[in-house]
Amino acid sequence: MKAELISVGTELLLGHTVNTDAAYTARALSAIGIDVLHVCTVGDNPGRLEEALRTALGRSGLVVLTGGLGPTNDDLTKETAARVCGKRLVPHEESRRRIAEYFKNRECSQNQWKQADLPEGCHVFPNNHGTAPGCVFQAEGGQYVALLPGPPSELEPMVRDSLIPWLAGLSQGVIVSRMVRTFGIGEGSAAQRLADLMESANPTAAPYAKDCEMFVRVTAKGETEEAAQALCAPLVEEIRRRLGDYVYAVNGDGTSPSCLEHTVVGLLAEKGMTLATAESCTGGLIAKRITDVPGASEVFHLGAVTYANEAKERLLGVPAELLEQYGAVSEPVARAMAEGVRRLAGSSIGVGVTGIAGPGGGTPEKPVGLVYIGVCDGTRTLVHRMDPGVRQKGREWTRFRAASTALDLVRRLLTGAPVEYERI
Ligand code: ATP
Ligand code: MG
Repeated sequence: MKAELISVGTELLLGHTVNTDAAYTARALSAIGIDVLHVCTVGDNPGRLEEALRTALGRSGLVVLTGGLGPTNDDLTKETAARVCGKRLVPHEESRRRIAEYFKNRECSQNQWKQADLPEGCHVFPNNHGTAPGCVFQAEGGQYVALLPGPPSELEPMVRDSLIPWLAGLSQGVIVSRMVRTFGIGEGSAAQRLADLMESANPTAAPYAKDCEMFVRVTAKGETEEAAQALCAPLVEEIRRRLGDYVYAVNGDGTSPSCLEHTVVGLLAEKGMTLATAESCTGGLIAKRITDVPGASEVFHLGAVTYANEAKERLLGVPAELLEQYGAVSEPVARAMAEGVRRLAGSSIGVGVTGIAGPGGGTPEKPVGLVYIGVCDGTRTLVHRMDPGVRQKGREWTRFRAASTALDLVRRLLTGAPVEYERI
């Protein structure tokens, strides 16, 4: 089925609100094999919304509208969609009851009730995080039209818990997808290694790059969940084999939180080991990403941001001679930072990062984007030199890439994988 999204809201057109609803919905639909071919944004204007909806109905089997279901006068999505599709709006008793419940101890203004008027014959999606229910119904031409609330805190659970299961129930069979996650290999190079696998029709394999990483999504359709999983499994294994140590995780779907930091925290917990970090140019980003993971307190001891040379010396015991002789951004200093913070924290693993995030401060010998990353476990110290990319992508990108590399080096140290990158 071909799908189209229409995001309604003048604040989206003005750039005041980023359209995260469209991104979330598109990801969720693609994970069950529904292709989103158009995404359109319109303001809170019934005329233009009508025009967008008529165009969408002319070319898509599923149209998902988000936003404008609320109680205020500019919330016109439902009224417009009902009019265009020739549906009456009728009160939905269960939704009225839920609104009454929601306002149990507060004053409920008259216009709140309009949220419970829904297109006749629709399937209702209850809103467990707000007042406006969502719904889906069929237009005269057979196209499905879904109406969902705008606030992401309401939309995301409704897409996940109501829309996706409802759509999955429509199609014969079950679609599952698995994501092979890699770090350190480019999209082009991975695509070359996997070229013949890309031609497979069921399961399909599709690579894409994001945030300095490269993913391959494997999707299969089968009569049952087990059958679809069984179709995916051999292809996932073959991709794993061909991409080798670049693969850091394989997980169920694109919306689950698996990422490098999850893998690292999981590995440390599994091995009963702990981590400490000494960061210069990443300014605490590694510590932040590690502590984003629930359960990090089991494995994370200490994160120090040692920006000044003096701090590197006093806190971490980096010898002044090293700083003088090689400069703060150097292999020996990254090594000494990793070993120093490990000693200071009494942890199993130490990480040291020192580099030039830019935009200023670069020299011909030490250009902006050069970062040294050390990791040590008391027996071995690995130091990786991260060179600037061909194109400078800015301070934030350098810092993020360095943090990801440090996390990946910890993974490699813990799993005994060699430190070898084709591209970071
Ligand atoms: P409400 O009941 O809150 O009025 P609604 O369904 O009418 O919800 P809107 O009024 O369009 O939705 O938007 C409500 C809030 O949700 C706004 O503050 C807006 O910033 C946010 N929002 C709306 N659409 C999107 C979107 N596509 N992506 C991210 N945020 C959005
Ligand atoms: Mg609103």
